[in-house]
Amino acid sequence: MRQMIIGNWKMHGLLESGTDLAREITSAIEPVLAARDVVLAPPFTLLGHLAPLLSRHAVRLGAQDCHAEPEGAYTGDISAVMLADLGVSHVILGHSERREHHHETNAGIRKKVQRAREHGLCPVVCIGEGAHQREDKRAEAWLTTQIVECLPPEFDGILAYEPIWAIGTGVAATPEDIESRLTFLHGALSRHLETDDKSHRVLYGGSVKPEDAASILAVSGVGGVLVGGASLSAKSFLGIAQAGLSLAP
Ligand code: PEP
Repeated sequence: MRQMIIGNWKMHGLLESGTDLAREITSAIEPVLAARDVVLAPPFTLLGHLAPLLSRHAVRLGAQDCHAEPEGAYTGDISAVMLADLGVSHVILGHSERREHHHETNAGIRKKVQRAREHGLCPVVCIGEGAHQREDKRAEAWLTTQIVECLPPEFDGILAYEPIWAIGTGVAATPEDIESRLTFLHGALSRHLETDDKSHRVLYGGSVKPEDAASILAVSGVGGVLVGGASLSAKSFLGIAQAGLSLAP
């Protein structure tokens, strides 16, 4: 399975700075695309603007959330059909920052996953344990609940394992920890979805940097990485996207 590198720009980027960043990344991304899929998820305000540039370079366009309804009286929200209309192909759902700041629940995320699929978007569903669950050895039970409650039985999207204690802290999980969690997650996914082990793409996210990307991407069962902070610099993002590949000079 091809690995996927997703850049989540979060609430960063204006017309000029976002265009410069996307231009710098796309100008050097072609060799990576022979081996890996690349998705950039800028803020909503830049989606329509960056769509033609990314599409010319075969970089996929991602959004960072969508509403569970296709339209209606939901001031300030954006629906999956609106994203599809702009050329978005992937949508990040259930990110821990949205769970924390917007009180998103597993049941609400599941509705968004179904709606995204209905409109042809590939959902990238984020799950992850916090520091407390990890210390109390409750992480596996927590992750299993997130899988069962967020993913409908027909789920064919992408899962992103993002331990909350690693997001934005500068401290990524070790390759050994990632491998053992991913083995667990692939098993939990195949039981919940009644599919073959490892048939789903499971990404790792949490403080991935160019220095540790090659060892993380080499972990068995890692379907790619979801990158936050390091995706805001073309040099860092490209360093991660190229990590471990032997690219022609
Ligand atoms: C994220 O927010 O999804 C993320 C992985 O952030 P960072 O890489 O900054 O830890």
